[in-house]
Amino acid sequence: MDEKKMQEIRASLEEEKASAEHQLSEYGAAVGEEGFEVSSNDGFADSAQATTERSEVLGMVERLQETHGEIVAALKRMDDGTYGICERCGKPIADERLEARPTARLCLEDQQVVNE
Ligand SMILES: [Zn+2]
Repeated sequence: MDEKKMQEIRASLEEEKASAEHQLSEYGAAVGEEGFEVSSNDGFADSAQATTERSEVLGMVERLQETHGEIVAALKRMDDGTYGICERCGKPIADERLEARPTARLCLEDQQVVNE
């Protein structure tokens, strides 16, 4: 992958990261020692509906956290110079795949193996 493309992907990852962080803060999640945490003292009323809402929020937060973690890991690999290298076979991941899924850690072949 050439430097210019890498910079473009980095820019879009940074943007996604900022947007995930923004959404997480909207859900009342704050960065704790083990990543993002949702405060338990956040004014949720003690009712069945509030419990449902809360578990929905927690589900959203969980997904956002996961996305955020993948983005952070991808940015770290860029800094380490290992971005775009398959973690299983060590071969470069195709540019098209990285453009479609910038957080990919495996080449398409190995991803299929993992999914099976
Ligand atoms: Zn591979």
